Order: sequence, then structure tokens, then C-alpha cells
Amino acid sequence: MKAIRIAIDGPASSGKSTVAKIVAKNLGYTYLDTGAMYRSVTYIALTHGYQEDQVDLILNELAKHPISFKKLSDGSQQVFLGDQDITLAIRQHDITNNVSWVSALPEIREELVKQQRRIAKAGAIIMDGRDIGTVVLPEAELKIFLMASVQERAERRYKENLEKGIETDFDTLKEEIATRDYKDSHRKVSPLKAAEDALVFDTTGVDISGVVQFIQEKAEKVIDMD
Ligand code: C5P
Repeated sequence: MKAIRIAIDGPASSGKSTVAKIVAKNLGYTYLDTGAMYRSVTYIALTHGYQEDQVDLILNELAKHPISFKKLSDGSQQVFLGDQDITLAIRQHDITNNVSWVSALPEIREELVKQQRRIAKAGAIIMDGRDIGTVVLPEAELKIFLMASVQERAERRYKENLEKGIETDFDTLKEEIATRDYKDSHRKVSPLKAAEDALVFDTTGVDISGVVQFIQEKAEKVIDMD
């Protein structure tokens, strides 16, 4: 069976990682959450108090404590920086609200894209992010761009937070999502946008299984083509 590369891009909270994880499990593919990588580097910057003009120090620290993932039996993933488990830390508010400036730094992107391509080399991979179809894997056999209204994405994230016991103000959450989208779409390097050959899918009003089904059908078609 042909092993393909699947790129899933889209704005914040569009459900990319949830569906990518399920599709990866169903196909027996590796899943790579590139957002977690940018969040990990943001963790380095914030814990050391590094600023935008201290990219060298950030990269130095990253080289000393590389990012790695550990897959758990329930399909979820733990994220490590060196041997430190930062899975929960990188989902905190201050990381989410600072990740856009860190991910806009060209040297940081260059290093993480290099790592992402190395991981993708073996094929049979599904990767989610903002620039996977445009920059990281322009040759990916299947490219999907997921979108949904800001209102719907904020509602989904709000519900998730409630379930996790994280208290959130809905309007603040909605504004933060819109701000992050704006910054990610307007940065100079690798802005968030759909690749020309991506299948754009508006998931507003579509549940997780509907999105999974859409991606999986497309993937199986490409896999069966040869
Ligand atoms: O996917 P997630 O929301 O966790 O991504 C966090 C942030 O990382 C994004 O808002 C964006 O700034 C950055 N990112 C990126 N390129 C990617 C993946 C994420 O710039 N491929």
C-alpha cells in the first residue's frame, strides 16, 4: 500500500489536531502536531524571559533540550523538552498568547521546518499546522485546509475548556482566537493560508466524525490510486 503525506492546515481551534489524530490512528500513520513545536519554543522563550532579539539564545536552549513526542495508548501525545514533560504547560494562556510572535521569527521557523521535514521523510505521516501544505510539505499527496467561523471555533474551545475544568470568558476567548488568526495570517514568513492545491473544507456545523470521514475518504482515494 502506498504511504502518503497528508497536510492539514487551518486557523486556531479549527479542529485540526483532533481529526488528524483520529485519521492517523485509523490509517496507522504518524501524527505530528507542529503547533506543539512552536508552543514548546515559546515555552523556552517565556521561561527564560528571552525577547525577539534573542533568537540565538532561544535556539541554543532548543538544541540543548530538543522537542520530542511520546504516544500514549489512548492515542494522545506527551510533549517533552529534553526530559521535561511540558504537555500541559504549553496549553496555558500565556503560551497561547505569546506563540504568534515566536512563530513569526524566521530563524525559529527555519529550524522547526527542518525538524518537521526530517520527521516526514519516512512518509505515512499526517501533519497539522499553518504552513504544512505551502512550505513544509509542498509535495504532500493530500492537502486539506480546515476552516470554521470564529464564533463556532470559540464555542468548541469554550466547551473543551469547561470539560477540562478551565474557567474561560467566552468573549475574551473569541477575541483571542481572532487576534491569533490575524497575526498568523499577516506575518511576513509563511503566513497561514491555503495552498493552491488544497481542498478547503468549511467545518462550521460539521461534527468531528464528519470531518474525519471527509479526510479519510480523500486519503483512501489517493492511497488506492497506484
Ligand atoms: O496549532 P496551534 O494552535 O497549537 O498552534 C499554535 C501557534 O503556533 C499558531 O497560532 C501559530 O502561531 C504557530 N504555528 C505556526 N506554524 C505551524 C503551526 C503552528 O506558525 N505550522
